[in-house]
Amino acid sequence: MMAIAGTKSGHQFMFLSDAADSCAAPYGELLCAPLDDTQAQDRLAQFADVVTYEFENIPCSVVQRIESAVPLHPSSLALSIASDRLQEKSLFRQLGMGTTDFFPVDSLELLTEAFSAFGAGQAAILKTRTQGYDGKGQAVINQPAQIADAWEQVGQVPCILEAKVKFSREVSMIAARSPSGEMVFYPLSENVHREGILRLSIARVDDPLQQQAEAMARRLMEHLDYVGVLALELFHVGDELFVNEIAPRVHNSGHWTIEGAATSQFDNHLRAVCGLPLGDTAVSQSVAMVNLIGTVPSEKAIAEIANATLHVYGKTDRPGRKVGHITLVDDSKTGSDVFAENLITLLDMVGEKELASALPFVATNS
Ligand code: AMP
Repeated sequence: MMAIAGTKSGHQFMFLSDAADSCAAPYGELLCAPLDDTQAQDRLAQFADVVTYEFENIPCSVVQRIESAVPLHPSSLALSIASDRLQEKSLFRQLGMGTTDFFPVDSLELLTEAFSAFGAGQAAILKTRTQGYDGKGQAVINQPAQIADAWEQVGQVPCILEAKVKFSREVSMIAARSPSGEMVFYPLSENVHREGILRLSIARVDDPLQQQAEAMARRLMEHLDYVGVLALELFHVGDELFVNEIAPRVHNSGHWTIEGAATSQFDNHLRAVCGLPLGDTAVSQSVAMVNLIGTVPSEKAIAEIANATLHVYGKTDRPGRKVGHITLVDDSKTGSDVFAENLITLLDMVGEKELASALPFVATNS
């Protein structure tokens, strides 16, 4: 999606991917090689004026090596912090940002101690420090009898144990910063996950927590001298936001910006990493995004829904895999009922009947 946006604005791309069927291939030259292949890295550095990435499970040594040869944004420092849950949560604390209680654990003994330190009745989530995404590398612990199984389940690797947060909703802040320090912020996205995977995002213009989320993003981006799009995944607890994690890249919960905002997150990421002025993040309509997980439903049925745009990623179907998304906008300004009805139809179509029945959630921006 970044390359689609960039091709339209005249950029040329080379991609380094270890997947032969990389869906970016039609938009530039694909170097299909292991990420630590130094010849491939050197070709990339020779070709590019600037290098970026859209996935944080890349070994830091790879980005550091590329960064020593060619400008790379976001920096390897931002990547190393965001790809280690212990480092990232420690930074949130250091910057005075609310986050859930957590302990580093790297043995069954420490895990048992940490769980009992939370106190009776407090559920916890064990997460691998690195390499986790979409709920992978995580295990919920509700009672001491589940501790040993959880430790097995995550593969007995260095982890953090987090207190499970009773949040009223999950939101994310998508922000961008350029090398000159210019920053822009999108309206908060309200997100619904199931089984650790994002299913639905709705843009919330004028959300009461917008300023709080912007302040958190500003603090992080200034501290890291950050360049590019940064996503903050947040829990809404009482009147406060707790930051769960950050992603140093364009983010799934910002995919709605393609049709829903004046400038998409992909355009703004490219603008930032190229040192260009950032684009307007205004949202003037109701907008939502429904993820397609595992398979793409009937394209004909989607086409029959007004203002729904289908994005198919060209990936083979696999249970739990994100293979596309649908953006729904309502530009009629008065048609909030139509927007809600269409969103329910889409959720039904992708098998999220339970979400579809959560009508209060579908209340629109109007
Ligand atoms: P993560 O991989 O940290 O983004 O977690 C995936 C999803 O699991 C989040 O979006 C939440 O829905 C849920 N989750 C993760 N950590 C916590 C937590 N400490 N308390 C409650 N829910 C959580």
